[in-house]
Amino acid sequence: MKFRCCNHILHSINFMLKYIQTCNELHGGEIFYSADDEKNPPDCEEIMRRRNQLIENCKNGIYPERCKTCPQFIEQEWEDNQQITKLSIFHWLHCNCECEYCFQAKHRKGSTDEVQKSMYFDAYPVLKEMHDKGYLAPADKFQFEIGGGEVAILEEFPKLMDLMLEHGFYYAYVMSSGIAYSETITKMLQNPKTRFSVTISAGSREVFKRIKKRDKFEQVKENLKKYIEKAVDKTKVCVRYIIDEGYNDTEKDIKDWIDTCEEIGAQFLEISLDFCRGFEKLQGQPYNPHLKELVDYYLKECEQRNENSHKFYYSVDRTSELIFERGYY
Ligand code: SF4
Ligand code: SF4
Repeated sequence: MKFRCCNHILHSINFMLKYIQTCNELHGGEIFYSADDEKNPPDCEEIMRRRNQLIENCKNGIYPERCKTCPQFIEQEWEDNQQITKLSIFHWLHCNCECEYCFQAKHRKGSTDEVQKSMYFDAYPVLKEMHDKGYLAPADKFQFEIGGGEVAILEEFPKLMDLMLEHGFYYAYVMSSGIAYSETITKMLQNPKTRFSVTISAGSREVFKRIKKRDKFEQVKENLKKYIEKAVDKTKVCVRYIIDEGYNDTEKDIKDWIDTCEEIGAQFLEISLDFCRGFEKLQGQPYNPHLKELVDYYLKECEQRNENSHKFYYSVDRTSELIFERGYY
């Protein structure tokens, strides 16, 4: 059937800090549950009812206000299948560090090592019901991502990941600060479809402390070493670096990070510009040419190190690449 809609409305579900909604794109999509407005925990059937109603409305030309101006809201033939193929779990705020660039940090006080529940709602009961009732697409069509906050200190993280492993998936993306070692992450890494990333953003204790406000550089290195050793596909453990101007933006900083990656046996590196502080503010601004020089330095350095014997795959985050291509954010 031809109507105005988008893939997120038809196939995604996003668990955000206070909301369960269609997407986490710039426009925010439609909200099916709001912890601000509802006293009870989220109800699976009510969420599915609201989701179905939204799709019916789109078919009948009643469009959600926040989607009307979204570039993804287009008229085309859409398939009838409405199963959830993409799940995002970001309903979690607390973390065991305080990255300078973290957009979540302003919503919480400092960092914590304490394992806790999410502040507003648990995701497990809703997802379990979605799984049991067949609302989630089968494994070969289903993907999910989880971050936050730090997953290793989220109380329901082990249960959630057991559920995802039981359901099956063709792609999973798990993000962590790497500060707390998690047996659950190690278990996830036994599945070659799991991609795991730690954005370490440093190659020395000093820079790590400056950016993350924790003296845990050595601990993160040790944990990463263990994860890499135990992963069935070592190229799925990505050690990332966000260039934060004024904090880790010298060639020496980048070199130290690549040295660290070599030392711990990392096989997949990725570098990125900082978008965490808010893409909306940056849009249309030219990028600082120094950032491009640093990325070029990284690419050259990795290429040289790979010349004699292959050490790692290395990439530039896709959005950063596009920004360099067009010259502005
Ligand atoms: S149309 Fe845009 S804002 Fe609406 S759900 Fe889709 S991606 Fe999100
Ligand atoms: S690791 Fe992630 S959630 Fe934690 S402070 Fe850094 S950016 Fe924020």
